[in-house]
Order: sequence, then C-alpha cells, then structure tokens
Amino acid sequence: MRFEILERDGLARTGVLEIDGVKHSTPAMAYAVDRIPAGLGVGMRMSPSGAAGKGDLKVPASGFRPDGAGTEVDGTLDPWFRGSPYADPRPEGGFAVLDGIVKSLLDSPRFVEAIKKTKSGPDLLKPMFCSLAGMPHRLALLAYCGVDVFDSIPLIMASETGRYLTTSGPLDYSALKHLPCACEACRSGTRDKEELLRHNIATAEAELKLVSHMISQGRLRELAEIRVRADPWLVQDLRLMDMGAYDLQEMHAPVKGAAFHAGSKESLLRPEIVRWQNRLKERYRRPEGASVLLLIPCSAKKPYSLSKSHMRFRDAVFSSGRAPLVHEVIVTSPLGLVPRELELFYPAQDYDIPVTGHWDRDEQKLAQDMVSWLVGTQRYDLVISHLGDERDAVAGVLGEHMDT
Ligand SMILES: [Zn+2]
Repeated sequence: MRFEILERDGLARTGVLEIDGVKHSTPAMAYAVDRIPAGLGVGMRMSPSGAAGKGDLKVPASGFRPDGAGTEVDGTLDPWFRGSPYADPRPEGGFAVLDGIVKSLLDSPRFVEAIKKTKSGPDLLKPMFCSLAGMPHRLALLAYCGVDVFDSIPLIMASETGRYLTTSGPLDYSALKHLPCACEACRSGTRDKEELLRHNIATAEAELKLVSHMISQGRLRELAEIRVRADPWLVQDLRLMDMGAYDLQEMHAPVKGAAFHAGSKESLLRPEIVRWQNRLKERYRRPEGASVLLLIPCSAKKPYSLSKSHMRFRDAVFSSGRAPLVHEVIVTSPLGLVPRELELFYPAQDYDIPVTGHWDRDEQKLAQDMVSWLVGTQRYDLVISHLGDERDAVAGVLGEHMDT
C-alpha cells in the first residue's frame, strides 16, 4: 500500500491511496460491499479479508487477532480500526485510525485528544481512516482534522432508520413532502430504503468532491465552519480543536494561504489569526522615530491603503508635515491590530468580516487586549484615537490620549 499526499490545507490533504496497484483519490468513502446492494458504491470498496477483490480495503474478520490474511496484505485495516477496547492493538498497521471514534462522537475533549495523538507522531503520514462517523454534514470537519478515508456504514445505518442525509444534517425521510435534491434517486419517483441509500451515497460523494475542491483552494476551514452549524457537537469539536490543538494546527497552517471570510465566532480562533496576534506580541517593534500612535479603523477594501477612507487619513497625515513621526495602526476584528507597514502580510489583506457597526464582547476584548499591549510596550509620546464603532471599547485601555 502506498499513500501519496498531493495537496495540503492545514491538517487536511488530498492524496492518492494505492492498494494492490489500484489507485484511489482521497479523501474518499470506502463502500462496505457486503452490506449494500450491488452497484451502489461508486468508489473504493471495503470487503472482508478473504473475500476481497484487487484494490479493496480489507476488513479483518476478527478484532482479537489478525485473521488468516494478516495485516501484511495490502490495504488491510488494523483489527482495532473502530477503536474497540477489546481488539488487539496493532499500531504498526498501514492506516492511522481515530482512537475510540464511537465515544469521541459524543465527547469533544476526547475527540480533540484523539486527533492530537494521531497527528503528532509518525502516523501523520499514514492515510487516516475513520469508521462510523462519515455522514455528509461531518465530512468537512473530519477532513479538516486530517481524515482521509471514511466508510459507508453511517450512510447504510441512516437509510435503515429512515434518515435522509444532507450537508445540513439528517432529515426524517417520511416527513419530506418534496425531496430537496436532484440526484437520480430523488428524481426516480420511487421512495424506499434502496433509493434512500442511493441518495445518501450521492450526497456524501458530492460533499467529498466539494471538500477536495476546498482543500485545493486552501479554503476547507470556511466550509467546516459552515457545516458544523448542523450539529452542536461539531461546533464544540471545532471550538475545542482551536483551543486545545492550536499548536498542532498552527504547525500545519500555511504561512501564505487563501483569502477567507471570517463570518462566525469560530473564525476568531482560526490558527492564522491567533498566530498573527501571537507573533505581533512576541516579535513586533514599532518603527524607530514614529512616536505618535494614530489608531484608525479598518476598511472593507484591502489592502487598507487603497480604500477611500484610508487615502483621506494618509492625505491628512502627509499634509501635516509630520508624517515620519506618525505610526498608523489599524484596529480591526478579528486580527486585533494591523500596523500600517504590515498590511500586505498574510492574512491582513486576505480576510473579510461582516460589518454591522456593533462589536460583540469577544471582539471588544480582543481589541482592548491588543491595544493595551501596543501602548504598554511600544512607548509612544502621544496617542491619537481616530476610531469609529470601536472607539468606546478601546478608550478605556488607552490612558491619556487625544480623541479626534
Ligand atoms: Zn438525492
């Protein structure tokens, strides 16, 4: 078995998994062919060892011992691939598997620890397999956490229990007057378990294609932030990933990534954003001689210098005849602060936020912390606040200053 990583986006990646010389693109769904009607699975097959075809992912017959075929056969999963505590541990297998996935689905701290454990050692380079969890609305978050291969078990279970899967979460099949989908199964006019399974598979496949595309574009985080809304457990997983696995995520976050929308509370804790704040605090020194701090608001247009409002600020600063003395610093959410001379650095010109004129408490606290750090460490002779909506929030930490 060979696994080649083609593109990365944080912990997520697209790749090629080669089993018995047969190549599969990842992220991918492996179809348990012994549990679904013939011809329904569209990609990688997952079969019991002994009955497997060329290129199939092979499921060991027993969790207690490697079965007859053994894990040395190409593409065989470890006996403990579902994280059963009773299975023989076989950490030397070809796949990395999420520890205790069933419990992790309802235990976010455990989920985060399992991801950290799997992604912090040599398992990082192995294809990561996640059984039982790959429903369409979860695929983006799980891929974001580095899962490469899912199995079709949750799609089958959903069709057995009448759940119509969407990327916004499962719906009750029997309650749907009109099916909100244009896949072949939904257009067939027939409603039964097999058509439901065909729909669930089509939805998962479409979502995997979108996940792959977003990885290629470096924008999977945005998709994950959208999809987690379907289930509070997923929101919890993402928030705890940001709080508990920042170092791991930061290590894999691109130095120069794609532009992004920061439209949710979770966006405030994106690793690129937290890294910006940390690096300012750890490394930043203001330009020597620029001893007058001018705090100004951000603009929708990036880089800020090209916006009309910032052109006016700059004209005013230059016409004062004291431009070299003035240090312009932009106060903005979610980055906190952007010193003018850093406005072209990632992600200062690559983010967009919803602007309502109202700063919530998290944003206010962030701005206060960053401004307080700036005036406390950079020793300005004079501080001028020329802020808008964020003026009041910041004024309290400025000490003596001029408000214009
Ligand atoms: Zn459909």
